[in-house]
Amino acid sequence: MESKKSSLHVLLVSFPAQGHINPLLRLAKCLASKGLLVTFSTTETIGNMMKEATNTKSSNIGQGELRFEFFSEGWEVDEPQRANLDAWMNQLRTVGRESFTELINRQSEMGRPVSCIINNPFVPWATDVAAELGIPCAVLWVQSCAVYSIYYHFQHQLATFPKPDQRDMTLDLPSLPSLEFDDIPDFLTLNPYDSLRKVILSQFKNLDKAFCVLVDSFEELERETIEVMSRISAPIKPVGPLFRSTKDASVRGDIWKAADDCIQWLGSQSPNSVVYISFGSVVSLSKEQLEELSAGLLKSGAPFLWVVKTPPADMGSKPELPDGFKKEAEGKGMVVEWCSQEQVLAHSAVSCFLTHCGWNSSMECLTSGVPVIAFPQWGDQNTNAKLLIDAYGVGIRMKKTPREKDGAAVGTRDEVERCIFKVTKGSEAETIKKNALKWKEAAEAAVADGGSSYRNIELFVDDIQRMAS
Ligand code: UDP
Repeated sequence: MESKKSSLHVLLVSFPAQGHINPLLRLAKCLASKGLLVTFSTTETIGNMMKEATNTKSSNIGQGELRFEFFSEGWEVDEPQRANLDAWMNQLRTVGRESFTELINRQSEMGRPVSCIINNPFVPWATDVAAELGIPCAVLWVQSCAVYSIYYHFQHQLATFPKPDQRDMTLDLPSLPSLEFDDIPDFLTLNPYDSLRKVILSQFKNLDKAFCVLVDSFEELERETIEVMSRISAPIKPVGPLFRSTKDASVRGDIWKAADDCIQWLGSQSPNSVVYISFGSVVSLSKEQLEELSAGLLKSGAPFLWVVKTPPADMGSKPELPDGFKKEAEGKGMVVEWCSQEQVLAHSAVSCFLTHCGWNSSMECLTSGVPVIAFPQWGDQNTNAKLLIDAYGVGIRMKKTPREKDGAAVGTRDEVERCIFKVTKGSEAETIKKNALKWKEAAEAAVADGGSSYRNIELFVDDIQRMAS
């Protein structure tokens, strides 16, 4: 006999970073809306930041309930220690793991034993904890299936990847477009951050122990890659775009407070006029790049909303906008530290998104029907940009020009201006917008009743119910 849905308790555990929290929390909301008891957890440090920024608290969603519980990584404050990624991951794997185990045991003592754990593969040890306690464990892959394939082929040495001095070599993998050097996640080619590469590849460590690999993508977007990878690795269930799968926007997982006045400001702008610019939660731009971008924005004459975020202490210094820029930009644009990107992308005043192409941002603009100016900085952003532009046809890629002065590559002010014009008014603009709207519709259909991702969520809940019986 199957367990009743209301007696099922799903515990999600997220790596403590915004780009991981958002898709995990969206999945949590989606499962709660199916009538399950769902607990979302991450570290206390980040949990406290979430509470402060968005007043995160338990709530009923549909027939179900979403709760929050956090575990300790043994560090009081967020920033300084994290600068050493190896040490931080080690701390999570040891102190974090112990505290997470206590959190699970507490659930049983409170009369709501955990029926299933879902982790993201940046915390592979959660799968070990689940196995020790005899709890079924699934994972949510929070990047594209294409990137899953690339990492998998690298990790299992199933393809030859170009070395730094083989920039003319392409990477050809089944079902993916031919990838040039700059389209491949640079952790695998130039390897700028060795510690991060280790974490990236450790994602496969426990993947085969999960009873299910969920992906924040959808069948219509990555059908062939999902089929290929399901054959050679584990069966993959696309359940995205999670961004669209729950309409309940009242629970958010922002780590920083969003500026509400920018939504009001968007309301004062003409439809389809504003360039939205954001580089996600981690990327920091060089001083020179900030200068070029600000000059390009002013040259374009388009109104703009620009998120200039202070990166975590270990990832860069506070960005300095050029002297006088804010004054010059008065009446033309708005600069904020953080915003509700979901709301911004859904706003009719927004004409295009200049993005670093993190997978969340990529999915969010693709499924909001907003054309893209892709300006990837590192990692999987390179591959996401390739997909958005060449495979899905929803924008253009900004060219980088190597500068002799300090050797750093930048997108020049002329290039910024050219891209804004091209994607909003140029000869390709209409086709780009049409493609963007096509993907928006496909995404909406995937998560609507009976759609491909909707069915996969239902099947997943059935699996949990069966295992709990
Ligand atoms: N985001 C936001 N407000 C901002 C900038 C970003 O809410 O001002 C959200 C965005 O919607 C996305 C996440 O932060 O869900 C960033 O994830 P992504 O994978 O795009 O980039 P990362 O931060 O991991 O590099």
